[in-house]
Amino acid sequence: MGLIVQKFGGSSVADAQRVMNVAKIVTDTYKQGNDVVVVVSAQGDTTDDLIEKAAEINPHAAKREMDQLMAAGEQISISLLAMAIESLGFPVISLLGWQAGFNTNSIYGAARIKNIRQNRLQAELARHNIVVVAGFQGINRYDDLTTLGRGGSDTSAVAIAAALRADRCQIFTDVEGVYTADPRKVKDAKKLKEITYDEMLELATLGAQVLNNRSVEMAKKYGVELEVLSSLNPIPGTIVKEYTKMEKMLIRGVTQDKDVALISILGLKDTPGVAFRIFEKLSTKNINVDIILQSFGRDGTKDIIFTCTKDNGALAVELLENMFDDCKIVSNTNVAKVSIVGAGMESHPGTASKMFEALYDSNINIQMISTSEIKISVIIDADEADRAVSAVHKAFIPND
Ligand code: ASP
Ligand code: MG
Repeated sequence: MGLIVQKFGGSSVADAQRVMNVAKIVTDTYKQGNDVVVVVSAQGDTTDDLIEKAAEINPHAAKREMDQLMAAGEQISISLLAMAIESLGFPVISLLGWQAGFNTNSIYGAARIKNIRQNRLQAELARHNIVVVAGFQGINRYDDLTTLGRGGSDTSAVAIAAALRADRCQIFTDVEGVYTADPRKVKDAKKLKEITYDEMLELATLGAQVLNNRSVEMAKKYGVELEVLSSLNPIPGTIVKEYTKMEKMLIRGVTQDKDVALISILGLKDTPGVAFRIFEKLSTKNINVDIILQSFGRDGTKDIIFTCTKDNGALAVELLENMFDDCKIVSNTNVAKVSIVGAGMESHPGTASKMFEALYDSNINIQMISTSEIKISVIIDADEADRAVSAVHKAFIPND
């Protein structure tokens, strides 16, 4: 018995039947004598649909108005879920983000939670209500609605679990946990029993879509243990925590990310300060650069190649063309980043060569490489991404 926070994603509450299914899971947990706070996302593709609706009317709408609109998605799902729980005969109340005390800063569309005023939440729990909270939203100091960025309701759930010192934080989704690769694409992908925050953070950032990376950051900061599990199949999922038993695995996962633009600046004058000028310029426009490669100078010139997200690619090219008229700027968006992640590689030499060998055996050309203590990423042709993930997965994950 204790306090349990349960979060359900959009697909878990997509229609009436799924909402009833969630009500059943929540009330089963409550029946066992627990206090339960439930955080939900908008139903199915509601948020995407709302964004599309806005674009039909004004593709450059103010971010404040976008937040007013997008927050509506979660308002629908909390009230419907509360009605479902009520129909099963349990005491329940739904709360919007502001009613649940979510104070955020004022960055519309990407707000950060500052704190959670707990009075209302505590009062409702004291009344033995199941509390259903709208994820993804809060309120700023001007009493305006804010949203936390796409996928933000994971973060809402972790924030509540941290604030209320919950005994457990369960993230229910439409897969059974965290896998060594996308199980829809790699048939030998294995579900992990446990994974560390750091590994999960890398996986989430590198393209695994199971948890939002900010939620993992917050879970690590406040020591909230997470369990990722399926709302449709009641079996144990994956635990995300600080330390894990190694499970004799060198790596925990292989990911791919196609949201990559590869920008090449060819024939730059080889003078000091040129790299500084380029990346300073990009950073003032909030363009986040990922992998950077600089060639050795020859004949007084050099090349600088870097990656950023696709939506930043065009802007980056424009900025660079305005900066340099004597060199060639090329953008390639037909690339993918394939990565392996695992704390085990820190103490195992040869991890990189094993990955490169798997790609070589599959005749896949590597265009760029980047490494950190617990990950190795390569940039390859986008059309080869699925094949690369399968080959690398096969090389590392024992098939038993
Ligand atoms: N409904 C929001 C979105 O689709 C928040 C979430 O799903 O976590 O991004
Ligand atoms: Mg959603």
